[in-house]
Amino acid sequence: MRDYYEILGVERTVTEAELKKAYRRLAMKYHPDRNPDDKVAEERFKEVKEAYEVLSDPQKRAAYDQFGHAGVQGGPAGGGAGAGAGFSDIFEDIFGDIFGTGGARGGQRAQRGSDLQYNLQITLEEAVAGTEVEIRVPTLTTCDACGGSGVEGGGQPETCPTCQGIGQVRMQQGFFSVQQTCPNCRGRGRIITNPCHKCHGEGRVEQRKTLKVKIPPGVDTGDRIRLSGEGEAGANGGPSGDLYVFIQVKPHEIFTRDGANLLCEVPISFPTAALGGELEVPTLDGKVMLKIPPGTQTGKLFRLRGKGVRPARGGMQGDLICRVTVETPVNLTREQKELLEKLDQSMRAGGKKHSPQQHGWLDGVKKFFERFTA
Ligand SMILES: [Zn+2]
Ligand SMILES: [Zn+2]
Repeated sequence: MRDYYEILGVERTVTEAELKKAYRRLAMKYHPDRNPDDKVAEERFKEVKEAYEVLSDPQKRAAYDQFGHAGVQGGPAGGGAGAGAGFSDIFEDIFGDIFGTGGARGGQRAQRGSDLQYNLQITLEEAVAGTEVEIRVPTLTTCDACGGSGVEGGGQPETCPTCQGIGQVRMQQGFFSVQQTCPNCRGRGRIITNPCHKCHGEGRVEQRKTLKVKIPPGVDTGDRIRLSGEGEAGANGGPSGDLYVFIQVKPHEIFTRDGANLLCEVPISFPTAALGGELEVPTLDGKVMLKIPPGTQTGKLFRLRGKGVRPARGGMQGDLICRVTVETPVNLTREQKELLEKLDQSMRAGGKKHSPQQHGWLDGVKKFFERFTA
């Protein structure tokens, strides 16, 4: 293996700037674009590229200075040095900044249109049951006045006389000629002398189009629906991009969603909680009766099987989970207050059994203080 400094023809004390200069000079000399079918040049180019990759990296260069080739082998850029691929990439990497980026090298290139995103808000009911909505999306579509050619009346663009349609021109730079994007057609290879009045030669116009979107049942916030080919029109005859509809489910006044399950807070009266009873609760497909057993506490969960959501991605239908909150009575009449006072007296006489949680808690507090006084 040859010495990297020798390959680049520089001293071991070379500065970064000099190194870059030497590399540019050699890379341009051996570049496969200007040495077609020259195996020797190709080998030289690989060598130069590998040497520069190591020496331009301060860490690798230090390792190379200390241990030679053994110090830099096995690294991501070591070994094969690009192994053939990416010659034109590196060409644009290095030379793009000085000679203008290559861009559409070799004339008009078909380009796929951009993908578009549309944020769609739907109600929980729509998300669960599925729906069909119409959306209006701004998009670039092929100009109908010129059929996408950009030429008034629909003719074809003319071949650029400066580059003869290649999109690149050769310029003399010192000892060698370099390719440069054609300044006349800006790399397109074609020029339009009589641009279409509607699209001004772009071949595409911005338009709003109305689309029908089928929302499958069970979708949730964050789900997306892909409408193939409904994105922006491609350039120069390229295919259209896709349109992605992102689902956002609006908050519901009663239900919150948790995957396949629906959650719902149900306030119940104090007497119902104590005596038990039946309660009408809403579900997304009508009302159902919920049985409240006597002695129900705040926080108790009731599960109504199968009253949740069937997820769009498949899986079991979820449940509706009702969380009970016992409501303390307010705005009491004199009579109601008297009744409650009577109830209170009666409950105190009964001792612990009517409010086990409270007594359990009071016992805990007592023990807690006893530990300090002992
Ligand atoms: Zn041109
Ligand atoms: Zn047009």
